[in-house]
Amino acid sequence: MSRVEIDPNVCQASGYCVGTAPAIFALGPDGIAEIKDAQGSTPGPVEIPDEYRGLVETATLECPSGAITTSR
Ligand code: SF4
Repeated sequence: MSRVEIDPNVCQASGYCVGTAPAIFALGPDGIAEIKDAQGSTPGPVEIPDEYRGLVETATLECPSGAITTSR
């Protein structure tokens, strides 16, 4: 499992993470990215299944503002 988190104060609402990993990321009503979980979506941290680790790591690298943090 990987743990992923978004800093809403750093996110620039570019939407790149949603394009890369739409199963994990969504844009909230204010355009700021969130992470999908069983309750809806949240800034995190959220535990992500291993099958999504590669996509989440790609989204983390692509994020233009460095708003996404992943850890294991
Ligand atoms: S890629 Fe980064 S800046 Fe863009 S919406 Fe996702 S978290 Fe925000």
